[in-house]
Amino acid sequence: METKSILITGGSGLVGNAIKKVSKDYNKYKFIFVSSKDYDLTKFETTEKMFEEHHPTYVIHLAAYVGGLYKNMNNKVDMFEKNLMINYNVIKCSHNYKVEKLISCLSTCIFPDKTTYPIREHMLHDGAPHDSNFAYAHAKRMIELHSRAYRENYGDNFICITPCNIYGPYDNFSLEDGHVLPSLIHKCYLAKEKNEDFIIRGSGKPLRQFIYSYDLAKIIMILFDKNINEHNIIISSPENSEVSIETVGRIIAKNYDYENRIVFDENYSDGQYKKTVSVDKLIDIIGNFEFTSIEDGIHDSVKWFIENNKY
Ligand code: NAP
Ligand code: GDP
Repeated sequence: METKSILITGGSGLVGNAIKKVSKDYNKYKFIFVSSKDYDLTKFETTEKMFEEHHPTYVIHLAAYVGGLYKNMNNKVDMFEKNLMINYNVIKCSHNYKVEKLISCLSTCIFPDKTTYPIREHMLHDGAPHDSNFAYAHAKRMIELHSRAYRENYGDNFICITPCNIYGPYDNFSLEDGHVLPSLIHKCYLAKEKNEDFIIRGSGKPLRQFIYSYDLAKIIMILFDKNINEHNIIISSPENSEVSIETVGRIIAKNYDYENRIVFDENYSDGQYKKTVSVDKLIDIIGNFEFTSIEDGIHDSVKWFIENNKY
């Protein structure tokens, strides 16, 4: 019997690398990891070429133009255009090339800003996203519509997953463009090296749920292997694991033994105050899952950053 293949777009990124590690437990599949260096998915012809060359049985679509709050605020046009193009091309080709299952990645930051908590999957289109990331959020919301249209008209097995804030090895540790954890892991490292203050942007008060990239990768593969009839599933650490930016900043500083030089720079935006999501649907599907604690996850990420610091 021919081995079924799973093509992973965004295979060189944070989540792609975590799936690479978890894929060792799934040798019944042939995994194909691709990055922008292999195929620029903003171009339709290149995307078609990728499908033509690999003819994947399944696709896990992670590729995106993505970053933290400040990258979103400073790159609205690219956030909108690049993500719209990448997603349109991958979803359309997945249909044209008869992909048997397509799992695409949304984000909890694309839910409505003014809402009730906890946020659940069905609330995605109930209101405008937070102003700071409206461009990325609207482009990402289109994945859900596009996938649903193919499900309803053609019966395509196109599913969305919606992770909370992800962190771990192979993250984007850029000082300006990264998400909060990798940026602060890098900033605290530099602050200690230069004997300067460790500056956390904003008030430190906003709340976030975080998921360690290897937990997410394990959950994606568990979901992948199940025959689920859901079109969107939130993947996050539980509601009661929500922590403030100040708390994660302090955990990072503790790892560097640099807790006494923390300063909050309130000239910077706080972004959305919170986006608390429910994981009831996820737990109904996969049962209980042992999430990595934020302390352990940050400890491992700091260690990885120090050992692999290429900046
Ligand atoms: P990442 O580390 O920034 O990696 C992005 C990946 O997309 C890389 O493999 C990159 O390839 C690829 N890519 C970017 N532009 C491309 C293009 N034009 N053509 C082909 N590939 C392209 O991202 P991540 O954090 O793993 O995110 C994975 C998914 O999770 C994304 O869909 C993201 O929106 C979603 N998500 C992320 C977070 C988070 O906190 N990180 C939270 C919620 C949802 P190169 O390496 O060659 O550039
Ligand atoms: P979000 O969770 O989608 O809003 O994105 P981020 O991962 O970028 O987290 C943004 C939150 O972290 C905001 O409250 C920021 O004020 C706060 N924050 C503090 N310092 C930093 C930093 O150096 N980089 C980023 N991206 N966010 C920071």
